[in-house]
Amino acid sequence: MIDYQPAWRRYRIWRSLAILVWLGFFPVTYLAGVIGKHFDVPSLFIVAALVWMLFMASTVAEVSWVRCPRCGKTFAVKMFFNLLPPVFVRRCVHCGLAKFSNG
Ligand SMILES: [Zn+2]
Repeated sequence: MIDYQPAWRRYRIWRSLAILVWLGFFPVTYLAGVIGKHFDVPSLFIVAALVWMLFMASTVAEVSWVRCPRCGKTFAVKMFFNLLPPVFVRRCVHCGLAKFSNG
């Protein structure tokens, strides 16, 4: 039997990072705004927000287009768009492999 756990471990890391990045958007931009106001750099807020949004987009893209360890196709997205957010998909949309299973 093939062990899929290293692939799932990688997925869990990216998923956790994506959740942390989403939750951290408002605190980070608020902190950048406060620091920018203190040091008289008003553009720091905009720069921090834009950089953080790029960070959010890249982590969400990584979670969305994760490859199924069994079939090698995208786990949660069959076409370009999927109605269910990829985090909530429980089985591979191509081969039916259950999330976090070994086959
Ligand atoms: Zn699959």
